[in-house]
Amino acid sequence: MSDLRDLYQELILDHTKHPRNFGQLKNSNCRADGHNPLCGDKLTVFLEVENDVIAGVSFQGSGCAISTASASMMTESIRGKTRAEVQTLFEKFHQLLTGPQDIELEDSDELGKLVVFSGVKEFPVRVKCATLAWHTLKAALKHQAEPATTE
Ligand code: ZN
Repeated sequence: MSDLRDLYQELILDHTKHPRNFGQLKNSNCRADGHNPLCGDKLTVFLEVENDVIAGVSFQGSGCAISTASASMMTESIRGKTRAEVQTLFEKFHQLLTGPQDIELEDSDELGKLVVFSGVKEFPVRVKCATLAWHTLKAALKHQAEPATTE
């Protein structure tokens, strides 16, 4: 288990140092801002939605390691998915971080690399850092004008 944990930490660290899909998206047709006042994480998610499918996604902003890594890995996870698939993925990710222990194993296939955040469950304050990008994503999909917040 500790090996697995090291591997998870390495992956999170890698995404923190080298965030994927970082910056403004050229052909973005929806975007939203997100803010986690508890930690001070701020980010913007840009989406290019085509016929209900996430054709492109990027993010920018500044925050702690967990929020940056989570946003980075989210962009990799949702590209090419439909709105409904993204919603399901968000729910599973949320369950992974807040739900009972046994849920994570059952759904780990679908979550893919996102399971690296399972350790965040032990640090409730960090759960908001890890879910900020997802709340912001949901706001962007709804064309929400108000910034998303974890509060
Ligand atoms: Zn944070």
